[in-house]
Amino acid sequence: MGKIVLENVQKHFGTVKVISNVSLTVEDGSFVVFVGPSGCGKSTLLRLIAGLEDATGGRILIDGADVTDLPPTKRGLSMVFQSYALYPHMSVRGNIGFGLKMAGMPKDEIRKKVDAAAATLNLTPYLDRKPRMLSGGQRQRVAIGRAIVREPKGFLFDEPLSNLDAALRVNMRIEIARLQRSLGTTAIYVTHDQVEAMTMADKIVVLNAGSVEQVGSPLELYDRPANLFVAGFIGSPK
Ligand code: ADP
Ligand code: MG
Repeated sequence: MGKIVLENVQKHFGTVKVISNVSLTVEDGSFVVFVGPSGCGKSTLLRLIAGLEDATGGRILIDGADVTDLPPTKRGLSMVFQSYALYPHMSVRGNIGFGLKMAGMPKDEIRKKVDAAAATLNLTPYLDRKPRMLSGGQRQRVAIGRAIVREPKGFLFDEPLSNLDAALRVNMRIEIARLQRSLGTTAIYVTHDQVEAMTMADKIVVLNAGSVEQVGSPLELYDRPANLFVAGFIGSPK
């Protein structure tokens, strides 16, 4: 479960067309990366899928069901942002379990699920700490813990590593890719970093000015870029 389909999705802000007619399929369990230069519409497209923005045209389907008019809470997706937005006054345990508590889950059950998520993310020793007592990488893992504990159909990541230093970023890339594969949960991952895209993705969607330039595996984009934009973007050094 977790196939995400976009059919001619559009988004205008007033007269400005930010997303024009995007159609694509994200297969269940796959890791798809949206990549493209700053301002090309990556975050907007992700927010449309999450339900944080309303599409001005087209349809979004999750496992065959039309979710275009459903609020974010009814879509079964979890979003992880660039800024961790952890609750500073709550412990790691409180932060990871907060969504479940809001959903009215019994305490014992929350405890079990938070323990399991923390074990998966190597956060068990830190469960009683406040976010300010954690490193950047640990904070980002708490943010991911908050997403996985809800057992979503899909993860939506918006540049989750861009606040981390270079070495940590490489580690976290590997950790996120490994976690996604072990959970088998569909993931859409937004980045402006083509190296991140090439190393993490099953499938890359190259965006430019609100449109899809090419969809393909990292190897396909590298070997057979559809046009100069893709060739230039994938081939450019960081
Ligand atoms: P990216 O994530 O690829 O950097 P965004 O999706 O954030 O790009 O933005 C795409 C374009 O849409 C940008 O030109 C941005 O200024 C514009 N945009 C984003 N959100 C809004 C908004 N709420 N109102 C008007 N324009 C917006
Ligand atoms: Mg963005």
